[in-house]
Amino acid sequence: MNIHEYQAKQLLKSYGAPVSDGRVVLKAEEAKTAAGELDGPLWVVKAQIHAGGRGKGHFKEPEAGEKGGVRLAKSVEEAETLAKQMLGKTLVTHQTGPAGKQVNRIYIEDGSDIERELYLALLVDRVTSRISIVASTEGGMDIEEVAASTPEKILSFSIDPATGYMPFHGRRVAFSLGLEGPQVKQMVALLGNLYRAFTEKDMEMLEINPLIVMTDGNLKVLDAKLGFDGNALYRHSDIQALRDETEEDPKELEASKYDLNYIALDGEIGCMVNGAGLAMATMDIIKLYGAEPANFLDVGGGATKEKVTEAFKIITSDKNVKGILVNIFGGIMRCDIIAEGVIAAVKEVGLEVPLVVRLEGTNVEKGKEIIANSGLNVIAADNLSDGAEKIVKAVKG
Ligand code: ADP
Ligand code: MG
Repeated sequence: MNIHEYQAKQLLKSYGAPVSDGRVVLKAEEAKTAAGELDGPLWVVKAQIHAGGRGKGHFKEPEAGEKGGVRLAKSVEEAETLAKQMLGKTLVTHQTGPAGKQVNRIYIEDGSDIERELYLALLVDRVTSRISIVASTEGGMDIEEVAASTPEKILSFSIDPATGYMPFHGRRVAFSLGLEGPQVKQMVALLGNLYRAFTEKDMEMLEINPLIVMTDGNLKVLDAKLGFDGNALYRHSDIQALRDETEEDPKELEASKYDLNYIALDGEIGCMVNGAGLAMATMDIIKLYGAEPANFLDVGGGATKEKVTEAFKIITSDKNVKGILVNIFGGIMRCDIIAEGVIAAVKEVGLEVPLVVRLEGTNVEKGKEIIANSGLNVIAADNLSDGAEKIVKAVKG
């Protein structure tokens, strides 16, 4: 789960990280008062969406101005004007994709005098199974470009879980970034606080881009992006409360209500599968036969008729879906029960695209019989590759 920049900054501030003073506003009328509560004389008006690259992004609506989602204001009136221009508009960045994201919240914060922009992140490194600190002197808005063209400028430091974060980690990072004097101490403290926040709140990613050296020599967190492990959210009600459902894919949100593991993808073949491993294999084999999956969907081991129906509704609500492949292994579940669930779901939801069903496991003959006798236009398949071949053929001709 991701949260907004202003929420991330509040959280990191509670762990002792240096951030600017700021106010979040939902309505343009609130902007002037909010800006007035800050010091000035320079304000930064920042669109809050769950995507980076806002500064270099552009709005779809011309009246929102040319200059992207992070803008400077020299007066509280100008801050209000900028907030009015951005609220309700669609911001497109390299991370949102061409559809962009609607801006529903604006963060107004004090402007900082920037000497240097650095990059700092903590993440779970799957290769070493450790938390890594990633740092670069080339922070700011072009970090992707840095990673692509000069990867040697991105440094990585692995933290041994047995010791946890140690001050020498911080010193190493500080020296590699060319920090001096009191800045080194600040970095050692900052990284200690970030590491504590990261582990205590079960984060998957913590990215500060930029971390700035101000003209007065002090460090400050100027942008913050946090991602949390969804499987650990149950023990962080404070983080759950920060969830902004308007930022999430509506289909994924609906699926989570029914405890379905669903991820929307860009392809044309909707998949309904039980078990994450089988779901992965199904996606792979669809690709092997020359098509692309429209989603990952694991209905789980104990899929009920209700769950199957809901899964169908979610799959068919995706207008990119040109065909559906149901691939179920009846282990604990019985194939006849699943067949009944599928038939009931098709009857309730309706079916405008080809449907291939592959069943295997307990009571498979009975399951197949139920499908064959249903009178519905369902294509039966005997095994995984047969199912993939049939659905791709039905969709692509
Ligand atoms: P994004 O990464 O989504 O583009 P950032 O918050 O990193 O958004 O802002 C983009 C750039 O705007 C920063 O790299 C920095 O140069 C500038 N900026 C952001 N916030 C401030 C601020 N409070 N004061 C001065 N400059 C800022
Ligand atoms: Mg940034």
